[in-house]
Amino acid sequence: MPGTTLKTEAIVLRSIRYGEADRILHLYSNTRGRIGAIAKGARKPKSRFGGRLEPFFRLDLLLHEGRSDLMTVTGVTTLDGYPRLRSSGPALTAGARACDAVLRLLDSAEPNLPAYNLLSRYLQLLDEPDQAQSTTLEAALSFRLKLALVAGFTPELASCASCGEAEHLAGFSGAAGGVVCGSCEADSFPLSEEAHSFMVEALAKPLAEAPNAEPLALRQVERAVGETLEHHAHVQLRAAA
Ligand SMILES: [Zn+2]
Repeated sequence: MPGTTLKTEAIVLRSIRYGEADRILHLYSNTRGRIGAIAKGARKPKSRFGGRLEPFFRLDLLLHEGRSDLMTVTGVTTLDGYPRLRSSGPALTAGARACDAVLRLLDSAEPNLPAYNLLSRYLQLLDEPDQAQSTTLEAALSFRLKLALVAGFTPELASCASCGEAEHLAGFSGAAGGVVCGSCEADSFPLSEEAHSFMVEALAKPLAEAPNAEPLALRQVERAVGETLEHHAHVQLRAAA
């Protein structure tokens, strides 16, 4: 058949039953960003794809690229199956929300290696023996902030997003895209010092070292990231936890 073969690494974000025995896959790849693919016969008992075309699997794939929007899976090798993630309810929920956020925020065929690496890293943390510390709201929000960063929608945190004032930053405005000062606080909601520091620290530290914060501050962080993405990426994320 005409077309070309693509070899790429990818993470399965979503896997949908299709027709009699096929699967449609939403993939996030390291070389092509988002890819849609069909795996023919994947649900037959003796399929050579086995059970590997499920969410979270990190795979080495051979894909046939023809004229259709969907590529066709022709070969699969598992790079990471994350067995501990799969056997824990909280880790499954956290992983599913992370994949859902990537689905909503990164839909282009442009490669974004930092985004791919971030998702891989988060799934890897959720698969570690001490996975409990990665299923916290703090970790979920750190992931979400870093995802906004690699997608190009980091909130402005250093000075007022409207006027540049560096002092008296007490609010956050999704429309302005960051913290705002007392004179620019129209359309903003109050942002505590704790929530502000959480965002600055979470962006500066590795994902595995998410800072701690009280529930009220974390709710403000979630709202700040959510409203920034709504206004600037036109994307609505599901609740972080
Ligand atoms: Zn201002």
